[in-house]
Amino acid sequence: MSRTAQAPITQADPRIPFPSTTEALVCRTNENLFVHEHGQNSPEDIRRVQRAKAACRGCPVAEGCLKWSLANPELTPTGIWAATTAKERKTLRNRLRERLGTDWVGVVAKVDRASSRRRQAQSRPAAAEAAPRAHPMFSSPARDSITPEQQRQNRLVLLTAEYQHRTPRPPSP
Ligand code: SF4
Repeated sequence: MSRTAQAPITQADPRIPFPSTTEALVCRTNENLFVHEHGQNSPEDIRRVQRAKAACRGCPVAEGCLKWSLANPELTPTGIWAATTAKERKTLRNRLRERLGTDWVGVVAKVDRASSRRRQAQSRPAAAEAAPRAHPMFSSPARDSITPEQQRQNRLVLLTAEYQHRTPRPPSP
């Protein structure tokens, strides 16, 4: 998947695969909307970028797309991915490196695998047959203490949410 003028010959990092979906993603049905080369800052470009970002915010795979685009800088040197420009992705990568270390991609992938295993375990038939429990928000406060992996995952989710809320809007034309 490339929306750059010159498609790089680079393999994607296998540790964070692009999320699979059967949805018709806007960036695939209207790829031109998501093209954003360096220096494209005319009022028309800025309006188009805003429309692309708005489409990403409604995308069902935005979180996975954000992780994938951050883990693959060589495949996403330009263009809008998960409501971010190339410059914004660079800032996010630097923050992740600061918080999670140089192998932040490995940390994120490990957390994702653990989450996936937990979801699979929870969806086993035995779990499905168990009596329905009250929503955790209203049930007993006695819960397992948080693990370091959960802490790292929480930091990533918070960072992503914080970033998406703080994404600066381009100046008005
Ligand atoms: S979030 Fe990613 S997959 Fe979804 S529309 Fe945006 S660029 Fe495409």
